[in-house]
Amino acid sequence: MDFSLTDEERAIRDTARQFITKEVVPLEQEALLRERRHQPGLELSELRELQQKAKKFGFWGLSTPEEYGGMDLPAVLQSLIWTEVGRTFVQFKFGGEADNILYYANDAQKEEFLLPTIEGERISCFAITEPGAGSDAANIKLRAVRDGDDWVLNGEKTFITNGNDADFAIVVGVTDPSRKASNGGATAFLVDRSMGWRSEFIQTMGEGGPASLIFSDVRVPHRNILGEIGQGFELGMKWIGKGRYLIPSNALGIAERALGMAIEYANTRETFGAKIGTNQAIQWMIADSEVELEAARWLILRAAWTVDQGEDPRHASSMAKLYGAGMVNRVVDRVMQIHGGMGYTRELPIERWYRQVRLMRIYEGTDEMQRLIISRDLLRGYTKIGGHLA
Ligand SMILES: Cc1cc2nc3c(=O)[nH]c(=O)nc-3n(C[C@H](O)[C@H](O)[C@H](O)COP(=O)(O)OP(=O)(O)OC[C@H]3O[C@@H](n4cnc5c(N)ncnc54)[C@H](O)[C@@H]3O)c2cc1C
Repeated sequence: MDFSLTDEERAIRDTARQFITKEVVPLEQEALLRERRHQPGLELSELRELQQKAKKFGFWGLSTPEEYGGMDLPAVLQSLIWTEVGRTFVQFKFGGEADNILYYANDAQKEEFLLPTIEGERISCFAITEPGAGSDAANIKLRAVRDGDDWVLNGEKTFITNGNDADFAIVVGVTDPSRKASNGGATAFLVDRSMGWRSEFIQTMGEGGPASLIFSDVRVPHRNILGEIGQGFELGMKWIGKGRYLIPSNALGIAERALGMAIEYANTRETFGAKIGTNQAIQWMIADSEVELEAARWLILRAAWTVDQGEDPRHASSMAKLYGAGMVNRVVDRVMQIHGGMGYTRELPIERWYRQVRLMRIYEGTDEMQRLIISRDLLRGYTKIGGHLA
């Protein structure tokens, strides 16, 4: 058994770390100040500039196939890089990416939607959740009715990331109400904002925020169907599936950085004439965080490795998402406790992480949904206790 990284994995991971440390971390104080003024920590133009700089370092399109100018990295490497990105709270991501399901587009749609998204010229959002259908995504009601060469969309999507900035949305709507959405009743549409949907920003406890998308007789040409009629739910689950190992990868980076801050503070802050790190209470918080962090790391890497093996990654990814999201919440909570009153202030990013990471237990499948998937797989005998080593 070999738990080490290859030379190539280590080199790419280290270069990503260098880039984040040198180019992104120095922007943190300014980002915090801006966010306190309710502005984006990083303007879109600044993000694009950083992405172009990263391109010169060789980072462009981590998951994008080479024929589209990307790196097409294995999932393990993508996971390692997302962990590095997680080490800064500046809302940076490497450029040259598009939603994984946009590759189901036909040639004309690729020209219109996929390529400009990869280039950063267009912004997409993915919309399946509705006010009445979140975890139970098969219960969506947004209706798409055929009318000549068009489909007419009516309904509402909610909690859509980028919904306020996107100039097109990938929308999953009901095209055949006689079937369940999860059984051929739903279809995905590529819907330009100019076709008439509007968005309403939703205030959340995190920075930035999702939006509701409102569709009122929005006409979408038939040629804008993504994939096949009836394939919408399947595409939606593919979109969500990708985040299930990348979200915890990002969480791992946050936890590593935050724990590092706590260790430094424990070694410098003095009370009662001694460093607080000499107290067992503090030592145990550090130890528990390190153990959980390592446990999460291996669950995440195993999930990514499963993707690279071409096996069904859902079980491993659900375990990684469930544990990784919980882990980062517990670690950030302890890191705040170790920092005492300072941890609670906006001088430090800890309270920001505290708000940010809470989302990880909710979106792209709540904790409860991950538990449902994990237990269902075991109960029906689809997976064995012990996973790959069983
Ligand atoms: C900031 C943010 C960004 C998001 N971005 C997107 C996006 O880009 N695109 C998109 O389509 N969606 C997005 N979402 C939606 C997100 O995926 C849903 O919020 C999530 O799936 C939960 O759905 P819900 O909010 O309707 O909760 P509900 O499904 O109503 O669940 C409420 C509670 O009940 C629990 N529960 C539900 N059913 C069961 C059950 N059978 N057994 C046990 N417990 C159960 C849930 O786990 C949860 O605790 C986003 C959400 C947020 C907050």
